Amino acid sequence: MEDCIFCKIVKGEIPCTKVYENDDVLAFADINPIRDGHTLIIPKVHAENIWEISGESLTAIHLASRKVAAAMKKALEPEGIAFVQLNGRGVNQIVMHYHLHLVPRPKGAPELPLTGWEMIPGDMEKIKEIADDIAGAVQIA
Ligand SMILES: [Zn+2]
Repeated sequence: MEDCIFCKIVKGEIPCTKVYENDDVLAFADINPIRDGHTLIIPKVHAENIWEISGESLTAIHLASRKVAAAMKKALEPEGIAFVQLNGRGVNQIVMHYHLHLVPRPKGAPELPLTGWEMIPGDMEKIKEIADDIAGAVQIA
């Protein structure tokens, strides 16, 4: 897509700090890192979000994410690695080209804001009602 910053990175029109690349995906350092080592993995074929991306690209991203996560584990020895993927402006997706965040939590670093939510038991009736709504809408793609 012409005006997409990540497509421009894929084409080499905008530089990135590459971590890994294969025929289908590119992984590079996030320039606004939540923690040291924060890396993005993107498909080389443009897709805006989870509703647009092909199964092939999605598979390629997740297989690559396992490889990058293994490298992070070896290189950084983090406490853990969060995989985060945002779909839509309402959940703060900034670049409208599918991307998976790999965010390591370095040893001794504070807990990630996105993994530190409080566990509060929900209303089981409401949980079941909403789950039933989703289950009723599930379709095999
Ligand atoms: Zn794009």
